[in-house]
Amino acid sequence: MTEEDSLIRGLHVFSTGTGSIHAEHRYGTRLPRMWWVLFSDNWVEVPINVFVIEHPEGLILFDAGLDTAILTNPNYVDSAIGRFFMRRLFRLRLQPDETLTNKLAGLGFDVADVRKVVVSHLHFDHVGGIAKVPHADLLVSRNEWDQLSGPHPERDFIFREHVQRPGARWQLVDFEHTDDPLLAPFGGCHDVMNDGSLILLPTPGHTPGSISMLARIKGRAPVLLIGDLAYEAELLMKDQLPGTGDKAQLLSSYAKVRGLKQRLPELVILPCHDFAAQEYLSSSLAGQGAQVDR
Ligand SMILES: [Zn+2]
Repeated sequence: MTEEDSLIRGLHVFSTGTGSIHAEHRYGTRLPRMWWVLFSDNWVEVPINVFVIEHPEGLILFDAGLDTAILTNPNYVDSAIGRFFMRRLFRLRLQPDETLTNKLAGLGFDVADVRKVVVSHLHFDHVGGIAKVPHADLLVSRNEWDQLSGPHPERDFIFREHVQRPGARWQLVDFEHTDDPLLAPFGGCHDVMNDGSLILLPTPGHTPGSISMLARIKGRAPVLLIGDLAYEAELLMKDQLPGTGDKAQLLSSYAKVRGLKQRLPELVILPCHDFAAQEYLSSSLAGQGAQVDR
């Protein structure tokens, strides 16, 4: 399928609040992780992006952002150690009205029209909004889901009670073999709508089951939504590792994404926590399908 005959008519982004993370977290450091987690006072502001895709069968979200209950419920994070590390790693700025529902309405969309939510990984700032879309199918990789059965997923900022919500319609994604030379290096793919417009690819490293989504959109350059694989596309392009994650897996995934970009030079790589996504998607040049190298 080419971009011209893609069924997808629009790609939008909003942020459910904003936050700050340590510079060492975003850009990497030689310092031991526990040192910067406990002592760094070097904060960088980040958005918490949710991407909205207009498909003829309904809206597809990539990630679901924060749940505003994190503001109002002091025990949103169940464990005391989880709350302590949460405060050391993230400073969240979220208003009570910054719900997924209201943010979608701000773009002129109805939350009832959300058909599927693809979750790049199960961290709390990517699944919070699922509380607002109980009718939607929730897609996550099987590898990522397996983390829920580990002894302490909350130590890795995966909170079972906010993922395994009653009635939540989770679907576990297994990747199918593909001979497509564009996608084969990833070792498998999954076609979300069965029309080639939205393709999931395994890109482990930030978490063991992290996935990216290739979106082919009418009138635009193709886009790869990478979740937290890297915090800025430039960092991925030059193998600059963040302060967290599995280094070997990250480097392997970075190489595969760069290989995809070599084959699709106009590909735009959009991370979850980068203001560049808003800049790119609001740019009129980009709307005309021009090359924007981010
Ligand atoms: Zn994450």
